[in-house]
Amino acid sequence: MKFFLASKNAGKIREFERIFSALGIDLISEKDLVDEMPEPIEDGRTFAENALIKARAGAAFTHLPAVADDSGLCVDALGGKPGIYSARYAGFHGDDAANNAKLLKELEGVPAAERTAHYACAIACVFPDGREFTVSDKCEGLIDFCESGSEGFGYDPLFISPVGKFSEITARQKDAVSHRGKAIRRFKEEIKKYL
Ligand code: IMP
Repeated sequence: MKFFLASKNAGKIREFERIFSALGIDLISEKDLVDEMPEPIEDGRTFAENALIKARAGAAFTHLPAVADDSGLCVDALGGKPGIYSARYAGFHGDDAANNAKLLKELEGVPAAERTAHYACAIACVFPDGREFTVSDKCEGLIDFCESGSEGFGYDPLFISPVGKFSEITARQKDAVSHRGKAIRRFKEEIKKYL
């Protein structure tokens, strides 16, 4: 059996490959396609809606069961921003340095106790016969006053989780508590019901 992962991100592809190979499923991703998949417009209002949009587009394009995820950082003092706009908070898609600088600026003067935030991750799965499901999870933490550490990516140099700053712990330690690690474990349980 074959599944399609609507992603070009090597890190995500590796994480999902680990799950699917344990279930005896071959996973192909956007990197394996001969013709490029048209980018769907991610105009959902939630992480789950955007993950579904991507998974539906993947299933329609490949005629395979398709999986997609969407994730981001929600900061309480900013009313949940950057949220679904996390990747392009400062304007350009995936400019981590600019995103972190903007976040620090927006939080200037906000005391430690009010710097609460969470990372969120939704994973969607869509079958060619129309069945679909989503799973979601989150990881609570605090936004630091300055960047530090060299592990992780994105907002990790600013995100203090209950087990330490995401940029200062190992990938394994992050997986154990992270939004994506927890959502992937939920996904692993849920997908078994559909196979
Ligand atoms: P996407 O899920 O690939 O759309 O990524 C959303 C954006 O959220 C990323 O570009 C990062 O800015 C941020 N993000 C999501 N998960 C993480 C994480 O685990 N660490 C740091 N940043 C993250």
